[in-house]
Amino acid sequence: MTVLTGARERWVRTGGVELCVAELGDPSQPTVLLVHGYPDSKEVWSQVAARLADHFHVVLYDVRGHGRSTAPQPLRGGFTLEKLTDDFLAVADAVSPDRPVHLVGHDWGSVQSWEFVTVKRTEGRIASFTSMSGPSLDHFGHWIQKRMKRPTPRRMGQLLGQGAKSWYVYLLHTPALPEMAWRGPLGKTWPRILRRMERVPSDNYPTSSLPSDAAHGAWLYRDNVRSRLRRPRTDAYAHAPVQLITPLADVFLSEQLYDELELWAPQLTRRTLPAKHWVPRTRPDQLASWVAAFVRSVEGGRQEPRATGRYADRFGGQLVLITGAGSGIGRATAYAFAEAGARVVAVDRDGEAAARTAEMSRLIGAPDAWAETVDVSDEQAMEKLAEKVATEYGVVDVLVNNAGIGLSGSFLDTTSDDWRTVLDVNLWGVIHGCRLFGRQMADRGQGGHIVNTASAAAYQPSRALPAYSTTKAAVLMLSECLRAELADDRIGVTAICPGFVNTNITSTARFTGVDAEEEARRQKRSARLYGMRNYPPEKVAEAILRGIVNNEAVVPVTPEARGAHLLSRFAPGVLRRIARVKPPV
Ligand code: NAD
Repeated sequence: MTVLTGARERWVRTGGVELCVAELGDPSQPTVLLVHGYPDSKEVWSQVAARLADHFHVVLYDVRGHGRSTAPQPLRGGFTLEKLTDDFLAVADAVSPDRPVHLVGHDWGSVQSWEFVTVKRTEGRIASFTSMSGPSLDHFGHWIQKRMKRPTPRRMGQLLGQGAKSWYVYLLHTPALPEMAWRGPLGKTWPRILRRMERVPSDNYPTSSLPSDAAHGAWLYRDNVRSRLRRPRTDAYAHAPVQLITPLADVFLSEQLYDELELWAPQLTRRTLPAKHWVPRTRPDQLASWVAAFVRSVEGGRQEPRATGRYADRFGGQLVLITGAGSGIGRATAYAFAEAGARVVAVDRDGEAAARTAEMSRLIGAPDAWAETVDVSDEQAMEKLAEKVATEYGVVDVLVNNAGIGLSGSFLDTTSDDWRTVLDVNLWGVIHGCRLFGRQMADRGQGGHIVNTASAAAYQPSRALPAYSTTKAAVLMLSECLRAELADDRIGVTAICPGFVNTNITSTARFTGVDAEEEARRQKRSARLYGMRNYPPEKVAEAILRGIVNNEAVVPVTPEARGAHLLSRFAPGVLRRIARVKPPV
């Protein structure tokens, strides 16, 4: 039984086996050929295939001995990379005789695809290759040899690290034992293991062929691994552009395996994902979007990615929504994401400022950018925004709740209206954002990240900023609580705590207990002081992107914010004494 809804099936005979091939989408479009790994069948791709089928001719096949394809007889020697290459060529010739195909491989599907894309006889048949969680055995062999020949403590650490991650490869080389385990208890508990360890949703996956897929697939390892690692090919150069997607929490493969990959794949695009091994099941949206963008760029003769920002591997193509994006930290953050190739939604109550941010973001490198005029304190407007974004642009991958206003003045001079205004924007704005977009992220079940802009004022008391500091302390605690709640959904939450940053906030901040003239004077003076400090918002933006990549809980930015953070933990009495110092008027 196939779970590939709407797929057309056919059989391809090659080298004594019959391969079960499924096709979706319009055959006149470029062909994307998805190759599954171990222990899997083509159904591992069902979510990705469904997403790609609207735009491409999508083809999947069960590797020999897997799913509904027949197994070679005898099994030993029937799974060599040479035979797997014969199978690939037979499928490619059957489904796309006149045009090269875009290969996509996961796990062993990627290992064998590396062979396809580096041997001479497939030249001209492969337009591009997207690899995930499966290195070339030849590249891996050279990687090991290099570390053995010229060992340094770092290289030995890498070798031992990958050696430990490969424990299952040794087990699969033992005779009969893996077959007994897979056809017995392991085959029964595997779906539960995948759900628990990898958080793989159980929608019709794995299929009932799992025990025999896994038993036959052991020969993939036995027929190839030892021989190739001992004598890796020296001419294993990719003859098509390669996109490498590295899941950063892969328990079977370490990131360092790909350190020198540019040597073998000169046209290389790197992508990273904060995810475990089974990304075709856990991150189908992200994979489909990266595959589609890569295929389009190769078909269009363009170099991918256009973005060159430091974090382009991580944020390229992601959907990022930033509030308060019309000025200061929000605008700089929008630009940093644009440089990394993200799609940007710039939200601000100042529509013109948001539009300028969106326009500039496109020029900098965002493949798409939109402006939305919304007051974050307006619950209904935020609900409408969340609905519109989901329908028109998709579920956001990163949300930055950044919009905020300043309010200065003693507690006794702060009116209830003042309190309401600052709480509505600085706290309720963040609550609305987290609630509405956090719900969408959790429902999608494919991770994401929420950043809330708090402030060093969140942990540094001051007699001059009681209301502002209260809102920021609340944002900090909200972020910590939400981080705990959303961890199970693989959604990270980060609170950013800048110190003094040179933005417009000083010119718009309210000062309580004084008349308009005095307020204007104080605004000017604090703008001058912040200007003298001159810490640029771009550095806060950089800290935001880094905080997401490292999934940090709290990120104090600026030296004074870091110093105050340390004091708040180890010497809070010092901060309390500083808090009593009267601000100059
Ligand atoms: P900014 O005034 O330069 O930018 C804030 C932006 O938010 C403006 O474009 C403004 O129009 C928008 N905004 C304000 N209220 C809004 C609302 N209700 N709905 C939608 N948009 C709204 O200020 P900034 O310094 O970039 O501030 C950004 C965030 O950083 C704020 O949360 C602020 O509290 C925080 N922060 C700033 C500093 C600093 O020194 N500048 C320090 C710590 C924290």
